[in-house]
Amino acid sequence: MPGRILVAIGAPNGDIRQLNHHCEAATGLALAECRGQPVWQRLAAPEHAETMREGFLRAAAGEDVPDQHGSWQARDGKRFAVHWGYSGLRDADGQTQGVVVTGADMRVADRMQAELSEALDRHQAILDTAVDGILTIDGAGRVQSFNRAAERIFGYRAVEVLGRNVSMLMPQPYRAEHDGYLHNYLTTRRKKIIGLGREVEGLRKDGTVFPLDLSVGEVVVSGQRVFTGIIRDITDRKQIEQEARRRQDELAHMARVHSMGDLAAGLAHEINQPLTAILGFSGACSRMIDAGTADMALLRDSMQQIARQGERAAEVIRRLRKYVEKGEIEQQPSDLGASVHEVLELLQHELKVNSVRVLTKVPDALPQLLLDRVQIEQVLVNLVRNAVQAMVEARVSAPELQIEGAVSDAPVGVSVTVRDNGPGFGGNPPDQLFAPFFTTKKDGLGQGLSICRRIVEAHGGRIWAERNQPGGAAFSLWLPLPPPGGAGVHEIRGAA
Ligand code: ADP
Repeated sequence: MPGRILVAIGAPNGDIRQLNHHCEAATGLALAECRGQPVWQRLAAPEHAETMREGFLRAAAGEDVPDQHGSWQARDGKRFAVHWGYSGLRDADGQTQGVVVTGADMRVADRMQAELSEALDRHQAILDTAVDGILTIDGAGRVQSFNRAAERIFGYRAVEVLGRNVSMLMPQPYRAEHDGYLHNYLTTRRKKIIGLGREVEGLRKDGTVFPLDLSVGEVVVSGQRVFTGIIRDITDRKQIEQEARRRQDELAHMARVHSMGDLAAGLAHEINQPLTAILGFSGACSRMIDAGTADMALLRDSMQQIARQGERAAEVIRRLRKYVEKGEIEQQPSDLGASVHEVLELLQHELKVNSVRVLTKVPDALPQLLLDRVQIEQVLVNLVRNAVQAMVEARVSAPELQIEGAVSDAPVGVSVTVRDNGPGFGGNPPDQLFAPFFTTKKDGLGQGLSICRRIVEAHGGRIWAERNQPGGAAFSLWLPLPPPGGAGVHEIRGAA
């Protein structure tokens, strides 16, 4: 709202010559009725008339008169506060032709002041009732505002934080690095967090470190750069996520234990071979010794064979134990190709007895991914066993499995596709294929693919099915490459 300026022009002796519209409106006077009367008589309240008269006449005499403050009086007797000043009107010869009285109607100014402070109160109330913590910092990283939610989240009162460097709210090493991030941004303008949301760590007054979602905006107010941070404490969400993750791991583990029976039957077969060989070699050794014909070189050769077969059997058992073990869930640098080979070893009996021809096209040097190997191998076991079951059930005469690994550029990652020449889905894969309890098998549980999907998604990847050409099903999974140099976490947490 523009401030109302009341203007009256008087002759050097004070007679009113002009009133502007605002002056007429504020006083209720019409120029016609007061023209020629002294300015101070018609405008000023009686007790300020003398002050105005004196000021006016001094201004008319060419003096610089300081501004005055007092009451003016309207036609109906109502008074109102005005802050006014004088300026002389002079002609080319320096003769005073009149004096302009310029008054600021303080009712308007007061109202504006009241409205401004109300707006500020409202603004503060909004900030204070916000569920999210909101804080602003200047270009040097000093905290300029800190709302109630921020007080609650960090455990500091606003007064303890205002004016201090925002890095006090971050744990090391980000605390030490924050000024550098800010400086970097201000010099390079390269945005790492501004305009984006990031998951970062915060430090409470009591020293605890907690996860938070931070989004940062940048504004320039009256030439000053201000960064606004909106903060959400996600400790609870993280705990829920962790719990969900734990349950999912339990479920995945149960599914592995469930499949152990089948796998063990196959592996028992695998162990039979080395055991039979061991028995054969040891029997031969005994006979040589009994007959007194033991040739040292021959005995040693047989013992080596026994040891080798023993290792083979132990390897089979190790593989099965590893598959069902329930270790700490951890993602470690790992090669997806190695997992494909491990899974084919684990299932070799099942593949053999069902006469499945296996073609693998997995490049030797696939880039390393961050994997929970046991779980990713569980996904591959599921896909391969589903394919074998589908082909066997449909009595495919020459069952064939193709496993292909590839590096993908956009998005950057590694994919593995398992194709079979079974019955496929009788068209496009059904929408609910990866939903829990979806099964077309008599004794199926319909958990396999839904667990696969959860495992792959927990790795930040994707899994999908397609019809294979010329027939059968194709299941693919794609897993992302870890952030370059493993620096992702650091950058994410610490970026300005
Ligand atoms: P289940 O094996 O207990 O049925 P899954 O979740 O592993 O549970 O599989 C769900 C369904 O997906 C299967 O019942 C089957 O209909 C379909 N399916 C999975 N793999 C294949 C495949 N290779 N070919 C055809 N159908 C498949």
